[in-house]
Amino acid sequence: MAKGTINVSVENIFPLIKKFLYSDHEIFLRELISNATDATMKLKHLTNIGEAKVEYGNPQIEVKIDKKGKKLHIIDQGVGMSKEEVEKYINEVAFSGAEEFLDKYKDKMDGAGIIGHFGLGFYSAFMVADKVEIKTKSFKDEDAAHWTCDGSPEFTLVKGERKERGTEIILHIADDSTEFLEESRIRELLLKYNKFMPIPIKFGTKEINDPDHEPKTITDKDGKESKEPHKQITVDDIINNPDPAWTKQPTDLKNEDYKSFYRELYPMQFEEPLFSIHLNVDYPFNLTGILYFPKLGQDMNIQKDRIQLYQNQVFVTDNVEGIVPEFLTMLRGVIDSPDIPLNVSRSYLQADAAVKKISSYITRKVADKLKSLFNENREDFENKWDDIKVVIEYGMLSEDKFFEKSDAFALYPNVDGKYFTYEELEKKIKKNQTDKDDKMVILYASNKDEQHSYIEAAKAKGYEVLLLDSPIVSHLIQKLETSKENISFVRVDADHIDKLIKKEDTAISKLSDEEKTKLDELLKEVIPSEKFMVQLEPMDSEAAPFMITQPEFMRRMKEMQQTGGGGMFGMGNMPEMYNLVVNTNSELVGQILGTKTRKKQERLINQSLDLARLSQGLLKGEELTSFIKRSYSMIK
Ligand code: ADP
Ligand code: MG
Repeated sequence: MAKGTINVSVENIFPLIKKFLYSDHEIFLRELISNATDATMKLKHLTNIGEAKVEYGNPQIEVKIDKKGKKLHIIDQGVGMSKEEVEKYINEVAFSGAEEFLDKYKDKMDGAGIIGHFGLGFYSAFMVADKVEIKTKSFKDEDAAHWTCDGSPEFTLVKGERKERGTEIILHIADDSTEFLEESRIRELLLKYNKFMPIPIKFGTKEINDPDHEPKTITDKDGKESKEPHKQITVDDIINNPDPAWTKQPTDLKNEDYKSFYRELYPMQFEEPLFSIHLNVDYPFNLTGILYFPKLGQDMNIQKDRIQLYQNQVFVTDNVEGIVPEFLTMLRGVIDSPDIPLNVSRSYLQADAAVKKISSYITRKVADKLKSLFNENREDFENKWDDIKVVIEYGMLSEDKFFEKSDAFALYPNVDGKYFTYEELEKKIKKNQTDKDDKMVILYASNKDEQHSYIEAAKAKGYEVLLLDSPIVSHLIQKLETSKENISFVRVDADHIDKLIKKEDTAISKLSDEEKTKLDELLKEVIPSEKFMVQLEPMDSEAAPFMITQPEFMRRMKEMQQTGGGGMFGMGNMPEMYNLVVNTNSELVGQILGTKTRKKQERLINQSLDLARLSQGLLKGEELTSFIKRSYSMIK
């Protein structure tokens, strides 16, 4: 029998392992199953290349709970180890790996900085066990080995009893970790970390209907027919799907396969995804995966089912921040890559060149997919636009590469539900909506009902009005204005329509300068100046006499600040700014000027102002009540 002391420089590593990884104890199971998987895959490889002259068969990994004995078993049928190999791989290699790991991270072990604790490996077993045994037999014709270690640096290594090739790890679960003797807890962990691992994992058995049994119809003595019960058989309960969709070739998958894999990933999601994107590269890095566009609508905050990150089919995390560009974290699906460094902090990840490449590959792939969806079936794409626009618009804002490509698929709907690409829009409006300074003015509304009268006024001029209603649209148009030549966006209610798109000045005023001054003074006396800036305009006599507008710049800055970033500092808290545009050519204005008594003038002004406010949805509460009262008394 060999007895020894593991070569420790840290006095006792096991308490350290426990202490530093406290929050993540559960990963021991993932580590041990990863080792069992590695050992099995190694054997597969060796038999394939003819180096192992054994039957590979259909190996499984088994996880077994012995509640009475307070033990957890992980058993594989992989390469196994000889005594010398245990000495080498467990006592030296695995230990030095664990030691190095702790050395590197013990200062940063606050839990937040690290994604997965890959690298600690085998010794993570001591986070939950006070004694660990390895019973193993190599696929080479050698004696079995039996290693035992009770958590101190001393171990024993003797000749073992194991007959079959493979390895059994036995954890004597510590008193503070008995949760890992509960079937439900282990099942939960297996489903979390191992749901798509490449070797079948057996956890107990289950009863299913015998597929070879066809229940007969039986007739009882009263002539009533019924089916006899289906015969039950007991089968291994295999936890995982060893061949998940993302490991297959896109050409081997149909639309339905992608949908059913989505259900497998997110069993609690009842809504179908809009479409999927298969990621598949092997140079200059390795990455596979499937991303899904879910129905998002306006809600940017639903983050329940997130993209899952795997490393060779082992679940690592569902926090892909830093790996996937931020705008795509709203998507769902799976990314699998052995090339993403896992045991490093997020700030390091974001600076890592390989990770940057991965991120820009994903961005490009998503842009290409959107482009081809648009080209293949425009109508379908338009129908989905409302559900995907938030992601696309966010991507246009945050990723320049994506922005460059977005002209091929980004859509601008008008208020009547017609969709334009930017190019189409430009072609359509350029002539009519270019102002006297040669600027192309793009009119938009954010709400068809609230801005109805302004939309109508613009349409009457033959202008096109877009409907841009996503939460981040103010940021997006800001970006479009700076990247396209000589254009500006204005909301239809930002000013009087003739001012929004200024053509050559042809307006003739009915009022004399004297009358204008008189009107201006009168209005300023009656209308509170802190609420409205009065602006006199000689407009078409048929246009509304009073109209409230909200200057584009101020409103947009405010909106940008409310939706995060951009805008001008402090604007978010500024009061709303409104202009009151008064049409000096309207009949009503003439009437106000011609009215003799001051009281009647005030009544007309207040009534007109209230009507203008009403059409902007600004008349509420007490003011609305007194408006209604006043209106009744006027029609009496
Ligand atoms: P890693 O898996 O990163 O190499 P581990 O600490 O998890 O580090 O394991 C150390 C080594 O122990 C493995 O590389 C392998 O050689 C050996 N080993 C661990 N578990 C098994 C197993 N179930 N079957 C065969 N060899 C194993
Ligand atoms: Mg390992």
